[in-house]
Amino acid sequence: MYNGFTYSQNSKTENNFYCTRRRLGKCRAKVKVTTEGRLESVNQFHNHDPPNYVTIGGKLVKITNITSFLLTEASTC
Ligand SMILES: [Zn+2]
Repeated sequence: MYNGFTYSQNSKTENNFYCTRRRLGKCRAKVKVTTEGRLESVNQFHNHDPPNYVTIGGKLVKITNITSFLLTEASTC
């Protein structure tokens, strides 16, 4: 079992990342970050097993945990 889940950005102007199974699986998990890329709030109560990838702007990124993923994204901006 890994800690990674699949999130997608709701829109490029928002900093909310919703689980990609939000619609299909009615999963309520989401992550909100500040404009600096810091974690603001995390809801990791998924109702399904975790995949190991996140998608942002069409990019598929393999992750092991959401914190390191966010730090990596922030450093590349
Ligand atoms: Zn989920």
